[in-house]
Formats: sequence, structure tokens, C-alpha cells
Amino acid sequence: MSRQLRVGGMVPLTTLDYPGKLACVLFCQGCAWRCRYCHNPQLIPPRGSQEITWQQVLAFLERRQGLLDAVVFSGGEATLQDSLPEAMAQVRQLGFGVGLHSAGIKPAAFARALPGADWVGFDVKALAEECALITRVQGSGVANWRSLELLLASGVEYECRTTVHWQLIDPPRLLILAQRLSERGVKHFVVQHVRSATMLDVDLPRGATQHGLPVLWDTLSRLFTTFELRG
Ligand code: SF4
Repeated sequence: MSRQLRVGGMVPLTTLDYPGKLACVLFCQGCAWRCRYCHNPQLIPPRGSQEITWQQVLAFLERRQGLLDAVVFSGGEATLQDSLPEAMAQVRQLGFGVGLHSAGIKPAAFARALPGADWVGFDVKALAEECALITRVQGSGVANWRSLELLLASGVEYECRTTVHWQLIDPPRLLILAQRLSERGVKHFVVQHVRSATMLDVDLPRGATQHGLPVLWDTLSRLFTTFELRG
């Protein structure tokens, strides 16, 4: 690789990050957004203090051949790194499936990475017109929803997921978001509660509750082929 993938951390074994697979997760360093609830703020800067070299990653994967099904490229935002497609190809050559976690921050970069993925966990931040309230980056909604279109058109397996902090989205907005996703053709949707132990915006309350949610979950479950509530 001309420039090696910057990996800020790794989980060597997980069953949660790629449905149905035994996987390891590579947390790619760097992100261009500043989501208020980001629970991996140490991955946002372009360089991290805990980086693992790509050679170390490959050496680890060679020892795990036959033991792991897949490698998930997560972040940060993995697709911002030019070396991602080549890293994905190397992982595939070693015999692993390839998962990708992304919010499609730059649609052109997301499009370059898509052919290398077997499965994508795609973060839909919010309604397009409200994304910047979470990401604090103007234009992020257009990018997020354009990349969603690219994903759906690609035929790559996926799940769409939205992280919920009840101070940033309320149940009526979440329902509108889900309806819009369903109209766009999304079949697999996950709502995940925010992991509040660490959040980029330290002023964001740790806990915020809502009432009447079982009715909402029931409505959402009827909008999609699969619907899951996490966390
Ligand atoms: S949660 Fe937001 S800021 Fe954090 S890595 Fe993901 S896209 Fe970037």
C-alpha cells in the first residue's frame, strides 16, 4: 500500500459487529464529523496515540486464519482513508469476509470502498435536514443520505442503524426518519441506544428517557423486513 491504513485500535474477537460472523474489528483512525454522542472520540484525530501498524494487523490475521470469519473495518470513518480498498482486498486474500461500518461521510470515497465489502453497517445519523445538529458539520445530511442511496443501489448486504439519544431526536422524529428510510427501500433497520459512558460532547446528559416507546417499536417493526432494538 502506498499509504498504510491507520488503525487506532482493534477488538480481536466479536460476535456483535458483523451479524452471524465471528469477526475482529479494526478501528480506523480519523473522522471528519464531530457527532455529539460519539463514543470513540479518540478516533477522530487523523493520528492516534494507540495506533497499530498494518503489518501488525496482517500478522495477527495470519494467526487467525480458519478461526475468524471476517474482519470489520470500523472507525472513526474508515472510508476517508485512501488505502482502505487495498486493505480490504488484502484481508479478502487472506480468506476473511469483509465488513464495513460507515456513515458515508464522503459519498465518492464510500463508493470506492463499497465493492470491497460483503456487508455494511450503515449509520443513518438523522433526517437529512437535521444531521448537522448531531454531526456539527454543515452538509453532512446530504452526504449521509447520498451514501445511503449508493449502498441501496449496490446490492451489498447491509443493516441501517440510527443511534438514539433522546435529547437529540424524539420519538415522532424517529418515526418520520424510519418512514423515510422505508420509502427509500431500506429493509433492515436497527435502533441503538447511545453508549453514554463516553461522549464527545461532555455537556450532553447521560440519561434521557421517553414514554410510550413500545408502540413506536411495534410500528417500526412493521415498516421493515427486520427491525432490531439494541443497547
Ligand atoms: S460517531 Fe460521528 S464523529 Fe464519531 S466516528 Fe462516527 S461519524 Fe465520526
